[in-house]
Amino acid sequence: MDEESRKRLTEYLGECWHIPTPHLRIIFLYGGDICRKCGERGDFHDGQLNNRPFTTGNDMLDLKYKIAEKGEWKEFIHYCIATEQVERVMSFSEDFTDLTTWLFTMPRFAELVDEWLKGKEAKDG
Ligand SMILES: [Zn+2]
Repeated sequence: MDEESRKRLTEYLGECWHIPTPHLRIIFLYGGDICRKCGERGDFHDGQLNNRPFTTGNDMLDLKYKIAEKGEWKEFIHYCIATEQVERVMSFSEDFTDLTTWLFTMPRFAELVDEWLKGKEAKDG
């Protein structure tokens, strides 16, 4: 998952996509780095500052809860069902058991949320 997608998902969660302050002096003084947007301190990892990887179960649950909190769960599930991949999965089961197993797997879940959000952005202009 690229940085643009991870940033989109982080901001959907209402969290800061941290941007490290590019000053060695701050790293020297505080023993780490500081986000220039929210001031959070952390370690500098490959130009990132403790930003979510969107590879973990916690990331998946937080996205799931946020979608439900915003009242968009039904819309998201309809988007997932409309994808060709789900049609393929659904052809193997008569109920929704295969769908839930297929859906709640990372990084697939985060990728689907990202694609859904991209589609919404395009539609909303
Ligand atoms: Zn920040």
